[in-house]
Amino acid sequence: MAYSEDKAIKRLAQIADPLIEGDIISAGRLASLTETDGVVQGVLQIPPPEAEAFFPVREAAQTTLEQMEGVKRASIILSAHKAGPELDGQKRKGNPHQPRRPEGYQGDSQITKVIAISSAKGGVGKSTVAVNLAIALAKQGKSIGLLDADIHGPSLPMLIGKSGVRAETNDIHDRRLILPVTAHGIAAMSIGFLTKDDGPIVWRGPMVQGAISRMLWDVDWGKLDMLLIDMPPGTGDPQLGLAQDIKPAGAVIVSTPQDLALLDARKGATMFGKVDIPVLGLIENMAVFTCPDCGSTHHIFGKDGARRDAENLGIPYLGAIPLEMSIRENSDAGTPSGDGAFATIAKALI
Ligand code: ADP
Repeated sequence: MAYSEDKAIKRLAQIADPLIEGDIISAGRLASLTETDGVVQGVLQIPPPEAEAFFPVREAAQTTLEQMEGVKRASIILSAHKAGPELDGQKRKGNPHQPRRPEGYQGDSQITKVIAISSAKGGVGKSTVAVNLAIALAKQGKSIGLLDADIHGPSLPMLIGKSGVRAETNDIHDRRLILPVTAHGIAAMSIGFLTKDDGPIVWRGPMVQGAISRMLWDVDWGKLDMLLIDMPPGTGDPQLGLAQDIKPAGAVIVSTPQDLALLDARKGATMFGKVDIPVLGLIENMAVFTCPDCGSTHHIFGKDGARRDAENLGIPYLGAIPLEMSIRENSDAGTPSGDGAFATIAKALI
């Protein structure tokens, strides 16, 4: 059987924390956990003067991980780079799906849930859905952030009518944080707000991940109910790596009826399954065409097929967005409304 991160975290959660009531996972010690070809590497954050108390913990963690199926070797590093969880005597609630902070992180954003918006391929309307959904959620009283993780062709600045805008920075606690750009009631960040020109940007793999992590962690998001991440399209290694890095609480898959028929949506579900990220639902885009002249609706790809396909995949069906001229026009004009089907789906997502 293959390695499962979820199972690894469950095993680590059996190890008691020497300093805080509870186990090392609920104490928030685990800073990272990766697996490559059966070799598992983990980092535990500990306070510098307490290293010795953690030597037995490291041994126990390595031993229990090496007993897992699919693991050849496990190596745990104790890192005192950051103080680790505060020792205020309070029992911290742990959640392995809390976004992980890279070492040295000092921002004080409080993001309740990170949600990835993904699609098996480009052009299905993922960005359009992400921005309208973000606005719809904000209209329903949630504080919402939207991060455009499409490094190669950032579309968010145009979609919210902020092309050419540069993000401002703010120095907090000796650290320079980037301020999100606000528009239509949401906080937004895109590489397009950080670079000088808006041309397509060519990055190599590790740089992409670095740039997205920076946008996630070095942006002063403040307090958010949800941060939506408009993922780069596809279900390959870069997307998998990014999902692992961000560790969202859940993922939403945007798909057109054709992709469903071609089983592309299944690839997305499989990808998130590999890293134990629950798929919260499927949004069917460009499902129904409403004739602008006579107002009649046409189910070009058949009615309810997508709902059935989603059920077969074991994914909740969040709803359908019609193919509508006004949606494209609003996107081009930078005035997405988040109304109509987007509002209904936002409700379902909440
Ligand atoms: P992706 O992010 O998946 O590459 P986009 O969101 O950029 O796709 O959408 C591709 C094109 O389709 C855009 O021109 C967008 O305005 C248009 N579009 C997306 N969804 C709809 C829709 N429901 N109705 C009309 N046009 C849409």
